[in-house]
Amino acid sequence: MKKIDIAVELYQKNAGLFRCPICLEAIEIMERSLVCSKQHSFDLAKKGYIHLLKKSMDSDYTKEMFQSRRASMT
Ligand SMILES: [Zn+2]
Repeated sequence: MKKIDIAVELYQKNAGLFRCPICLEAIEIMERSLVCSKQHSFDLAKKGYIHLLKKSMDSDYTKEMFQSRRASMT
């Protein structure tokens, strides 16, 4: 059995524990992704974990750090 298949089985057994991080609706397991009742979906990675964080949040943070570092140097 592959890691992702084990993870899918685990998520299916514990589906009631998960909530969508965007709208907080209940989440269902569809194939190899988690989908909430408002159709937000999160794909399972091959190793069995889920990417719930948005990449845009990371880039905003980096930009802010860069700007404040430049300001303090001048
Ligand atoms: Zn949602």
